[in-house]
Amino acid sequence: MTTFRTLDDADVKDKRVLVRVDLNVPMENGRVTDVTRLERIVPTLIDIADRGGKVIILAHFGRPKGVDPSQSLKAVVPSLAHVLKRPVAFAEDCIGEAARRAVDAIKPGEILVLENTRFHKGEEKNDPDFVKALAENGDLWVADAFSASHRAHASTEGLGHVLPAYAGRTMQAELEALTKALDQPKRPVVAVVGGAKVSTKIDLLENLVTRVDALVIGGGMANTFLHAQGIRIGKSLAEKDLADTARRIMAKAEEAKCAIILPVDATVAFHFENNAPSFAYGLDAIPSDAMILDVGPQSIARIHAAIDDAATLVWNGPLGAFELNPFDKGTVEAARHAARRTREGKLLSVAGGGDTVAALNAAKVADDFTYVSTAGGAFLEWLEGKPLPGVDVLKTRSS
Ligand code: AMP
Repeated sequence: MTTFRTLDDADVKDKRVLVRVDLNVPMENGRVTDVTRLERIVPTLIDIADRGGKVIILAHFGRPKGVDPSQSLKAVVPSLAHVLKRPVAFAEDCIGEAARRAVDAIKPGEILVLENTRFHKGEEKNDPDFVKALAENGDLWVADAFSASHRAHASTEGLGHVLPAYAGRTMQAELEALTKALDQPKRPVVAVVGGAKVSTKIDLLENLVTRVDALVIGGGMANTFLHAQGIRIGKSLAEKDLADTARRIMAKAEEAKCAIILPVDATVAFHFENNAPSFAYGLDAIPSDAMILDVGPQSIARIHAAIDDAATLVWNGPLGAFELNPFDKGTVEAARHAARRTREGKLLSVAGGGDTVAALNAAKVADDFTYVSTAGGAFLEWLEGKPLPGVDVLKTRSS
């Protein structure tokens, strides 16, 4: 089913394998505070090392403007070595003499991290000379950073044009999950989209209505749709100037035979704060000084029914102001329902982007979804139907 080349197709023995990974881990006082991203790349690194390849890691860290010791990847090396349970070497530069000497110094099966690719301007510009300088230290390129694949940078895309290119295990898992969720899904497909604003998700909504059978809209963005239908939403968060956009998306959905499922009732409060007294209201009765902060109980039942009808679920964004008690209820209950259906083998569920991972973690169901993408921007661009340069280069290369 895959249309891209994976590590299964690569002969890595005694080769210098440049592996582009995501090392953007949270740090405090020079120490890594969350190793999730490091754990995710372990299978790729061990696979290459145990098959006798030299593992040469490329990654960016932060947004340095030139060389900046405070953004050095050196600080990540001890945590990576700990997670891998193997020694990890480090080179002070990702190109040139320092990199070459470090690559020569490691033996097949050993692991080396090269310094932050963004210390060089050529990285983000995808400068052919910089790509060439990186390629001098490798025989193969393995892309394992889906989270950076929406950027056509030297180490995320450029190298795929000059070296034989393969998807690493993390990239492979992500692409297989995304393919099953939207490109070749088992139907019916339902998408759940929430979050604060329509304005940040117009492209996403326009793409999804042409791809899915039903689209559940919740969160602050649902208020804009309700307002566009003439419903009085009091002081709720909404972008009233986007009423036409909301109507256009609904018309496009109708044309594409995609059912739009909007809230049928609301949980409201009079203050935007934790433990604010909350009330369930019908949509014809929202007080003018109240705010809709979550979908109401009947809406939750309606969303559960939509999930029951689906074979595939794609989820992005919370259905309410989930950071505040009790306005996490809609998100938590719907997420738990989707998790249950997934555990029963009745649903393939893929979620990702921004606050979604936090919302699923709050509902304690992230492990029960079929796949949860931690890839923020790249996941959203994929939902928008945009090409991902770092993925396309894996599909198109023929040698
Ligand atoms: P986004 O980053 O667009 O996915 O939006 C996530 C944010 O939307 C979270 O901080 C939620 O608290 C917020 N949000 C969701 N629903 C509402 C709502 N009805 N009113 C206000 N904020 C909301």
